[in-house]
Amino acid sequence: MSKVAAPPRSPRSEQLYREAIEVMPGGSSRATIFYAPYPLYAASAQGCRVTDVDGVERIDFVNNMSSLIHGHNHPVVNAAVKAQLDRLTAVAMPTESEIALAQELCQRLASVDRVVFTNSGTEAVMMAIRAARAYSGRSAVAKAEGAYHGAYDFAEVSVNSSPETWGRAEAPSAVSATEGIPGYVNEDVIVIPYNDLEATEALIEANRDRLACIVIDPVVSRAGLIRGRPEYLARLRELCDAYGIVLIFDEVLSFRLGYNGAQGQSGIRPDLTALGKIIGGGFPVGAVAGSAKVMSVFDVRMPHVKIHHGGTYNANPITMTAGLKTLELLPPAAYARLDALGCRTKTVLTEALAEAKLHGFVRADGSLLSIFFGGQDSDRFRELPRSDRQTAMQRYLHSALLDEGIISTPFSAFILSTAMTEADIDSLGEAAARCFGALKR
Ligand code: PLP
Repeated sequence: MSKVAAPPRSPRSEQLYREAIEVMPGGSSRATIFYAPYPLYAASAQGCRVTDVDGVERIDFVNNMSSLIHGHNHPVVNAAVKAQLDRLTAVAMPTESEIALAQELCQRLASVDRVVFTNSGTEAVMMAIRAARAYSGRSAVAKAEGAYHGAYDFAEVSVNSSPETWGRAEAPSAVSATEGIPGYVNEDVIVIPYNDLEATEALIEANRDRLACIVIDPVVSRAGLIRGRPEYLARLRELCDAYGIVLIFDEVLSFRLGYNGAQGQSGIRPDLTALGKIIGGGFPVGAVAGSAKVMSVFDVRMPHVKIHHGGTYNANPITMTAGLKTLELLPPAAYARLDALGCRTKTVLTEALAEAKLHGFVRADGSLLSIFFGGQDSDRFRELPRSDRQTAMQRYLHSALLDEGIISTPFSAFILSTAMTEADIDSLGEAAARCFGALKR
């Protein structure tokens, strides 16, 4: 892959980026939105389209890293938010809106009796781990190799696992991804190979007396959009029950896959669920949700409340209102439509690869998709392609698609919204076909 797509020309973005790097390290507060040599700056958006600062409109297949399930500026969500803005924006008292959103989540998730809100998925995972530790009196955490659970120290271990660092397949090494995380963090994290039942079981057995929790996605996103095998998730549930380990599902992303989240599809009930993204309707949010028994560690009525869950913006009424409206606009039929759009997206992208005779494949789960170049499809993290060529192709595609009027991530993820139509999906297919065709020439 020698071809490198030129960055899309955006004189105003280039100029803004020059200003940005003078006041922010690297020019921004979000590592995931840095695209060399400069990112495109957004000016406005409507539905599934974003307009940049030079007035160029593109179809948005990122949807703010999946938090916008209805695309941008949904009229019903916006009307509710505007009314809430005029009533009350923030207050050191509870509001009705948080009860309503908590009720909606309890109604959708069979494993959930109680909910506490946070301001991000990272915080939700962090507080879920803290709750598990307080509940169990132990401190070690098991997590899947390569899985992303946000920026909390204990959740970041192994997130950038690569052949240079990953160690033995049956006992992957626990290495922190980021400088600044103390070495002892690695000692308290047991990395398990996702969907490898035998190796996982051996690791859990060996650490059963020190494990507070297993944090696992029913559908792993960053590690390759992999769904947990039914027998794998079921065995994790059994092991947790047998050894008093708290089972935490990270559904920050996967909750968008079904009316009852991915856990509803799997039929496995975790003790705790970390939520975020769509439940805030596009505003900053997270939540820890779970059984009344485990969630009692947050109960302020207890004489010795185990966890003091402070937070100036927890359950902010604007977020709660936007989240509730967003979920109300998601009856089961909305998921069926998103799934159908997902199937169509998989078809058009697969056809575009075949037409260009490019070796690659598309992984899809509901409204989430990912393209891989070379290699073979697999539901094991280490077996999916991770070559430099794959990374270079994904970056090329991201850049070339921007020129074609499509926004995707630099790691070839495509995230759908209810604002999209079949015609938008077909536009992606046609644009991808042109980009793949250019690669061949
Ligand atoms: N967990 C998963 C599975 C995620 O995908 C993310 C974010 O992408 C997080 C946790 C962290 O959420 P946030 O970015 O809101 O902190």
